[in-house]
Amino acid sequence: MTDGIPAAPGTEGWFRESPDGFVLLAGRCTACGALSFPPRTVPGCPDPGCEGLDQSPEPLSTTGTLWSYTDARYAPPPPYPRPPDTEFSPYALAAVELAAERMIVLGQVAPDIPAEALRVGMTMELAPGTLLSSTGVEERVWNWRPVAGYDAYTGEAHA
Ligand SMILES: [Zn+2]
Repeated sequence: MTDGIPAAPGTEGWFRESPDGFVLLAGRCTACGALSFPPRTVPGCPDPGCEGLDQSPEPLSTTGTLWSYTDARYAPPPPYPRPPDTEFSPYALAAVELAAERMIVLGQVAPDIPAEALRVGMTMELAPGTLLSSTGVEERVWNWRPVAGYDAYTGEAHA
């Protein structure tokens, strides 16, 4: 799954692609164990009561529960990057709760999944995705998508 697509600018170090799969990487405080996603770019723990300065990369769970979602039906205004001569396609955004980490991670829903197919409470899994830069270059991001077992159009669980 390492196809050489570079991380979208600003997300370097937020995920890892390897033959073992695609995972998001949080930062874990080496002093108290507090998790941050995205990993912190400045020294210091997210817990104000902790004086830890260092963090180590920590893979996050790759499945979670759809906590909430919304859809984007209008193109964001400039300077939102978009390749020239492309039409805006509506997309959905998901907030997925990771049970083990007790975190909610936002992400774009895979482009083949319409918002109408989403239901709060359904199980979602992480997947590599791509965006197109303003110059039409593919950039790696992460997507959320319902796990197999849900109808992609109705969001109903398969019997
Ligand atoms: Zn800490």
